[in-house]
Amino acid sequence: MIVAIDGPAGAGKSTIAKKVAATLGFLYIDTGAMYRALALKVLDLNIDPLDEQKIIALARASDISLTPEPDGGLAVFLDGNNVSRQIREPRVTRIVSDVAKIREVRQVMVELQRKLGARADCVLDGRDIGTVVFPQAEKKFYLDAGFDERVRRRFLELRAMGQAVTSEEVAADLANRDNIDSTRKVAPLKRAEDALHLDTTRMSIDEVTAAVLHNIREK
Ligand code: C5P
Repeated sequence: MIVAIDGPAGAGKSTIAKKVAATLGFLYIDTGAMYRALALKVLDLNIDPLDEQKIIALARASDISLTPEPDGGLAVFLDGNNVSRQIREPRVTRIVSDVAKIREVRQVMVELQRKLGARADCVLDGRDIGTVVFPQAEKKFYLDAGFDERVRRRFLELRAMGQAVTSEEVAADLANRDNIDSTRKVAPLKRAEDALHLDTTRMSIDEVTAAVLHNIREK
């Protein structure tokens, strides 16, 4: 079974996807981590984030893989190196949406995501899972939350990771990515018509998890 969870940054997708996957014994796939790994390589090689041709070649020549961890999390490997921490750095977040809007980059990532999805029951989170990657997914969810609440959640999450960000910086990042992700030509962020829409602004993590699990278990 494929469970697709889409929505904007800070809506709680990865937290919920991880919990749902752990409860059901499914594989959790964080598709944003794949775009982040490529963005990290772009930075490490000093490639201009707007140089599409170089980035396309890089995407085709890179080895990006995800490995489940015992705590239900996911380790992200780029060319054999564990980059799980680096991909969350603000410098990566700042350019990832520019890298992710390139058609050919998306083709490479979508192929990888489909291969992973063909191997096991999965919960995937991203922006285009229910619309483009797995339009035939048995279960689709679109998680959203008010802008201020998304900023609050992402701020707390980054602080917990030890990042010295301000809430203004987080708000600027989310507004920028919301804009690029939802207006790009290829696979923009949008709700699949057959996705269950959950506004999680006033819901706890447990309430959202329960609502998603209830829907999945329903015939
Ligand atoms: O999920 P996360 O916020 O880590 O994703 C980082 C970025 O990767 C998003 O802002 C978006 O630009 C891109 N992305 C995407 N399609 C996906 C997942 C992520 O374009 N399926």
